[in-house]
Amino acid sequence: MNSLPLDTIAVLDKIGDNIFILDTHLDFLFINDHAVNLIDQMNFKLDITGKEDLIGKNIEFLDMDGCETLLNLLYNGPFPTKANINLRNGSSVKILIDRFYIGGELKGYVLTWKDVSEYERELKDIKAALDESLIVAFTDRLGNITHANEKFCELSKYTRGELIGRNYKMLRSGYHPDQFFKDTQRYVNKGNLWQGQIMDKAKDGSCYWTQTTIFPLGSNDGKPYQQVVIQTDITEQKRTEEKLQATLKELSDFRFALDQASILGILDDNYRFIYVNDNFCKISKYERQELIGKSPRLLSSEAYPNNQFDRILDTVKKGQIWQGELKKFAKDGSEYWVEITVVPLLEKDGKPYQFISFQQDITVRKKTEEMLQRTEKLSVIGELAAGLAHEIRNPLTAIKGFAQLIDINTVYKQVILDEIDRINFIVSEFMVLAKPHAIKFVSKPVIPMIKQIVTILESEANLRNVQFEVDLNQSSPLVLCEQNQLKQVFLNLMKNAMEAMPHGGKVHIDLEVIGGMVEISIRDEGIGIAPDKIKKLGEPFFTTKERGNGLGLMVSYNIIQIHGGHVRVESEPNIGTCFTITIPLCKEPMMF
Ligand code: ADP
Ligand code: MG
Repeated sequence: MNSLPLDTIAVLDKIGDNIFILDTHLDFLFINDHAVNLIDQMNFKLDITGKEDLIGKNIEFLDMDGCETLLNLLYNGPFPTKANINLRNGSSVKILIDRFYIGGELKGYVLTWKDVSEYERELKDIKAALDESLIVAFTDRLGNITHANEKFCELSKYTRGELIGRNYKMLRSGYHPDQFFKDTQRYVNKGNLWQGQIMDKAKDGSCYWTQTTIFPLGSNDGKPYQQVVIQTDITEQKRTEEKLQATLKELSDFRFALDQASILGILDDNYRFIYVNDNFCKISKYERQELIGKSPRLLSSEAYPNNQFDRILDTVKKGQIWQGELKKFAKDGSEYWVEITVVPLLEKDGKPYQFISFQQDITVRKKTEEMLQRTEKLSVIGELAAGLAHEIRNPLTAIKGFAQLIDINTVYKQVILDEIDRINFIVSEFMVLAKPHAIKFVSKPVIPMIKQIVTILESEANLRNVQFEVDLNQSSPLVLCEQNQLKQVFLNLMKNAMEAMPHGGKVHIDLEVIGGMVEISIRDEGIGIAPDKIKKLGEPFFTTKERGNGLGLMVSYNIIQIHGGHVRVESEPNIGTCFTITIPLCKEPMMF
């Protein structure tokens, strides 16, 4: 047996590959440190603990699996050559065999191999893990499937046999346009990794979504000869996403419809606005930024019972819905009516975190209701008046005639005549309400009528320390009217104005032409009218005066209504009251 020089041994021992050297008789001449372990793995019978067990022994001594092939190769070549040797742990190694010569003479054989069993095991584990969690397929450059893992079969519902050799196109669902696949293929063909979401169709026709990665593997001429397709099933995720999208769309459609249909406000848990829609701004006459962060109290008035607001708040803060009709006040002070539903949105613990207020504008309905109520009362009185007036007036004419003839104390006589006049006056007030068959409308200038009434009232005004401030320096507008009736309205309003100032004061009378209307305002500096009483104005027999009859305003409102106009009242207690009459101008030529 030959041996190797010691320094050679020292170097060979440190080489990472497994090396052993046999002499020409196939006896072990040298084994490096790495190889000892593996030789132990190669044989199935012996227990080798170190190099010493092997050096000098013949290779046949190992009695390993595939030994015959190895011996055959060692005896017959060709050289260099490779032999596969199975290991005890189930893996195998590929041994490179060559002869070596010194001075032209065959001295023995060198056997080397790399120990890759560890890598192989790791690779196997990785492959198993991948197969377990991912859909893996290989295709050639045309898209023909060359490999399909279990998961792929599971998801596509095809057997492996049905997939291999077929083109990936068979899975197309029709969702993506052809161009999509062409672009993808071109991109991958250029050697890129492509990622995206694809909807494929399974054998049973059902569709599934995958997150897909495609990349080319191995390329000799620059073109991929193999494509790896790795996918994860995201069908469930996609479905949830689609559902979410649909729900979001539904919500926004719903919000749009609500925005269109109603006055909408959203309030936070402190009952402050966090959102108001356009309708809300339009009706309240506030800008959006003037409302955001504010309480809806802004839209109620001090005059209007505030406990209503507190009642609503109490109800909704308890998590209950509040519904009702409310009078609101716009920024310019004008009032509007809404039918309102406040819905609290509740947290899991039942506490409201937001409130939604849906409102409908019912101002017109409310105004109509009010007017109907008044008209109804008027028509009842009107009917009564028509009957009563004749019954009272006829005997009254007789009484008055005879009273003038009676020869008694002129003071008493005068009282009787005055009282008869008073009865006559009240009856004639009622007459106004009777069917307007006798009324004849003619075009007349307004200013002379007003001046006339002022003149009539002047002496009484002097007694009461009241002055009339008349600002009528206009060309007198014409109105189509029943003169006596209009004069009666001016008389009623001016008398009320005087009566509202027990300590005297001024009555301002102004006239303005706006659009096709003439506005006449009669303003006093009197005691004013309490806010809750304003609504009662015009109701028959509503009076706050000891000697009042509560008919003046009723009759006046009625006359103005018959003339196609309306009356507006503004009043502040202890500051004064202003009645503004608006009636349409006459467009016809003057007829005196
Ligand atoms: P009367 O004058 O007989 O009381 P009216 O119909 O003329 O009846 O008026 C009804 C009520 O309206 C009055 O009693 C008074 O309370 C109120 N009123 C009308 N005009 C004024 C005014 N200018 N200032 C204060 N209160 C007024
Ligand atoms: Mg009066």
